[in-house]
Amino acid sequence: MINPLKKSNLLKKSVDYRRVNRRIKAVIFDLWETLVEDKANGELERDTLRADFIIQTLNLPLPFKPKILEFFTVLSDAFRNPSPHNEWSLVPEAQIDYLIRNLDLTVSKEEFDKIYTFYTESLLDNPPTFTEECVLTVLASLKNKYKLAMISNTGRSPGKTLLKMLEEKQIRKYFEVFSFSDELLLRKPDSRIFEITVSKLHVQPNETVHVGDSYKMDFLGAQSAGVNPILYAKGVESPKANPFIRSHLEIEQIIRDNYDKN
Ligand SMILES: [Mg+2]
Repeated sequence: MINPLKKSNLLKKSVDYRRVNRRIKAVIFDLWETLVEDKANGELERDTLRADFIIQTLNLPLPFKPKILEFFTVLSDAFRNPSPHNEWSLVPEAQIDYLIRNLDLTVSKEEFDKIYTFYTESLLDNPPTFTEECVLTVLASLKNKYKLAMISNTGRSPGKTLLKMLEEKQIRKYFEVFSFSDELLLRKPDSRIFEITVSKLHVQPNETVHVGDSYKMDFLGAQSAGVNPILYAKGVESPKANPFIRSHLEIEQIIRDNYDKN
């Protein structure tokens, strides 16, 4: 015979279990302007060095320099507004190829490879800094509770270079999945880049949060894949969306208040 008291204890136990059971199992981070940021004019300085290197390698006259710098402006615009029309900007090989075609140049394989190496690895000579001093300790602490992943729309520096940079900054070890747009040939806000990341983490979208600084790419992108968004709004007076954080130190609290509720 079932003891009704025992039964109610069992039920109570199961309710308690659900209460302590954390709903969120994984945290995905954006990279640029969320975990790391360039010094003022960092990319402009690198682009100038890239332009000089291309001119030197191909032995071009100096009037080519403003044309190459103009290409970098077009490129940055393509990164800000990804669309099927600017898919040439997805991978560095195609970016360099686009530049060469537009300048109407003939380039040997050896010259192309030389330019590619300089172009894609300039970042390592002049790396970005953490957005906050606490980045390392926050990641170490989150790693004890959640699976961590990174989704990054890459630009001139491909995933391969970014991994080296993350290794040098000693944070690569905290992430078990990396989704770089130049490798997946998909970029935020495309929901598929979030779906692939979540499936590699072996969790459900609603068991995941995505932390990123861009309302369009990160917040809306994550939402479109059913992933819980958190807007990173360091130094922003009126953030565009809720929930938001102004420091990574707030992540765990925001997860508890917004997404771990039963
Ligand atoms: Mg970003």
